[in-house]
Amino acid sequence: MGEYKIPGQLQEFVTDNTIVVRSPGRINLIGEHTDYNEGFVLPAAIDKAVYVTIEKIEGAKLYLHSIDFNESAEVELADIKPVFGHWSTYILGVVDQFLQKGQTVPGFKLGIYGNVPLGAGLSSSAAIECAVAFALNELLQSGFSRKELALIAQAAEHKYAGVKCGIMDQFASLFGKKDHVIRLDCRSLEYEYFPLELGEYEIVLFDTMVKHTLASSEYNIRRSQCEEGVMLIGQNYPSVHSLRDATVEMVNECIGEFETAHRRCKFVVEENIRLQEGCTDLLNGNVEAFGKKMFATHEGLSKEYEVSCKELDYLVSYVKNNPDVIGARMMGGGFGGCTINIIQKDAVEGLVSKLTEAYAQNMGRELKYYLVSIEDGTTIIKS
Ligand code: ADP
Ligand code: MG
Repeated sequence: MGEYKIPGQLQEFVTDNTIVVRSPGRINLIGEHTDYNEGFVLPAAIDKAVYVTIEKIEGAKLYLHSIDFNESAEVELADIKPVFGHWSTYILGVVDQFLQKGQTVPGFKLGIYGNVPLGAGLSSSAAIECAVAFALNELLQSGFSRKELALIAQAAEHKYAGVKCGIMDQFASLFGKKDHVIRLDCRSLEYEYFPLELGEYEIVLFDTMVKHTLASSEYNIRRSQCEEGVMLIGQNYPSVHSLRDATVEMVNECIGEFETAHRRCKFVVEENIRLQEGCTDLLNGNVEAFGKKMFATHEGLSKEYEVSCKELDYLVSYVKNNPDVIGARMMGGGFGGCTINIIQKDAVEGLVSKLTEAYAQNMGRELKYYLVSIEDGTTIIKS
């Protein structure tokens, strides 16, 4: 460690007594809509992160300052409650969890700065929660493990952001490892690292710059379609408690006559298989084979699970037959956000400029893009 530096923007907050923590955003290489089906995901922490400075002070007040919003907030420890829609809520949510766990929290001064794009699907919110949780754990010497901190951060997101997320984002931020992906079992929280040796390739995200309002209602519908599938399979195979336990044969046999539920469940089962096979590709250093699976995932998400949108489909189909792009798919819940692409390094610049023009012409929007590298998870950069 020690290779991550305190960003200049936060320097003015740093004294001898300040703790500084970095916690990254994340990507997910493969494994979409598998988490709530107790399956696997394959995230990685990235080079874009949130940085937090924290220092104990006298009294029972919290002084919070956001560099990016150029705004301060003062909160009495006794008065902590959610401030939905405000950046401070993620910090307060974590403090609330520490209090709930019986920790004595003193007054403190906290500064926050980050370069994870907000709301682009890179989980800047999880990055804040994990940075604050890690910093408090150090300040109070609470002794929580990384796994416990991930659960604290997730609970903060549930209660103080009102987002009922799974554990992946917080887990990836805390457990990330440079140049590795994390295969996380969403049922047991067991995990294993796999090397992602990109060589001549680079990961590039293309941001559709749209977020269709369908996202949350359709999400709930997908969840219930999966539950319906599990119920039908369970009638013949009582050992199946989630789609994680099912095979394609079971799906065909038990749900075959329910066309929509069949397509949904088949996607989830196949996505888990793709992820496992993708990990073997990574062990073999075969990133091209891995990339092909990303295209297959996109096809499934678009046609079978039906959570894509025309902007995401446009970005993936644009690169699909380009030999410099070995893998691409929509990333995240769907109906907007980014695509994740694995692209030959030398070809990135040319592709970005052509695609930007084509996207504006055909989708009527400005395209944004982010180059990402895979970095370590949450670290203390000064204690
Ligand atoms: P995502 O997690 O996908 O990036 P969210 O809507 O869940 O999007 O979280 C974004 C919110 O997190 C922002 O609106 C802001 O309140 C907070 N946030 C993210 N990064 C920062 C930052 N650097 N400083 C302060 N608040 C931030
Ligand atoms: Mg978020």
